[in-house]
Parts: sequence; structure tokens; C-alpha cells
Amino acid sequence: MSLPSPDHHPSTAPSRRPRAFPGSGLAKGLAVTLRTMTRKSVTAQYPDAQPDLPPRTRGVIGLFEENCTVCMLCARECPDWCIYIDSHKETVPPAAPGGRERSRNVLDRFAIDFALCMYCGICIEVCPFDALFWSPEFEYAETDIRELTHERDKLREWMWTVPEPPALDPAAEEPKEIAAAQKAADKLAAQQAAAAAAPPPADNAADTTGEET
Ligand code: SF4
Ligand code: SF4
Repeated sequence: MSLPSPDHHPSTAPSRRPRAFPGSGLAKGLAVTLRTMTRKSVTAQYPDAQPDLPPRTRGVIGLFEENCTVCMLCARECPDWCIYIDSHKETVPPAAPGGRERSRNVLDRFAIDFALCMYCGICIEVCPFDALFWSPEFEYAETDIRELTHERDKLREWMWTVPEPPALDPAAEEPKEIAAAQKAADKLAAQQAAAAAAPPPADNAADTTGEET
């Protein structure tokens, strides 16, 4: 076996590239500068100019507390385990005499640690009661990492920055909920009309007759 000669080694072989003219690199650089300086800038002067973000940007999560039933689904599905929920049970008296007492969960604490959150959106997707929403707000950097755990009051504040949902497609099928609500409203109206048209009870009728004689 023969070793390759040092003359044929790639690192020692003479270069075949044509020699550049002196100053051609400078001319190329200036050409690039001239070409790009006439184009529209794609950088933004943040924070002097606010970025034009898409409406559904994942900035921060807002909590609409009234919708939360403390089902714990979001905390269980969060891959980062950064949702903290505490609650207790309360007994609700029966709505009508003879009814059964019920128990309900009352929220004591709801917090999200945005130092751990990876903005995957799973919590928002899985919430069955529309209690979590994306807000495009992103300016909540902190110098103390502990401040990135947002408690329920702060999460509620973010709700006011959640954009309105897009308009419904006019050609879309009517949601089942609207038909069900309309049916319930019609039934209630029919019951009220029947109650108004019914004759007064016999006692009232007798009292009225007695007053007249
Ligand atoms: S966005 Fe993802 S990581 Fe962040 S709190 Fe929700 S589920 Fe957890
Ligand atoms: S999934 Fe929704 S309703 Fe359930 S605990 Fe989370 S925010 Fe509340």
C-alpha cells in the first residue's frame, strides 16, 4: 500500500480558484448595502414601536373565574405541572322544600407559573367550561422569577385583554344550543300564557261574589 504524496493532499494542493482583483470584496459588500438600503425594513423598533401581532397570539393566559368549576382537568393535563388549584367543598341547601342538599367546589386558589409554562395551550383546549383564554399581552417580564407565578386576581386582569372571538360564518349551521334555548323559551312563554288565561281559583270567585251582594 502506498501513501498519497503530500502534493496531492487536499489541504496542501494548490488552489484552482481564480485570484480576485484587489478591492473586489469591498465592491461586493457595497453593492449589497446599496441593494438592501432601498428595501422596506423588516425590523421593528420595539419598545418604541409596538409589534403588530396576530390577533390570536399566545401571550399570556386569562382566567374567567365564574366559568371555572374546579374540575382540575387543566391542572391534570398540563405537561409542565405549572397550574396550581386549591378548593374546598360547600353544601348548597335544596332549591325547593323536600329537595336534596348538593355539594359544590369552591375555588380557593388558581395560579399559573409562567416561568415553567411552555405555552402549549393544552389547558385552554381541554377546559370544558371556557374558563381559560389566550391574551396577546406579552409584556410581563420580571426581575424576580417568583413574580411570574400569576395568582387568580392577576389571571382575571388578563381577561380584559382577550380579543373578541372571530365573527361566526353566516353560512354555518345554527348551533344546537340556540335551538335548545329557543325551545325552552317557547315552553316558558306558553306556560305563562296558560297561567294568565286560566280562570281564578274558586275561593277568589266566591269572595268576589260576596263583595258584590
Ligand atoms: S399552556 Fe401548556 S404548559 Fe402552560 S399552563 Fe397551559 S398546559 Fe401548562
Ligand atoms: S379545566 Fe377549566 S373548569 Fe376545570 S379547573 Fe381548569 S379552568 Fe377550571
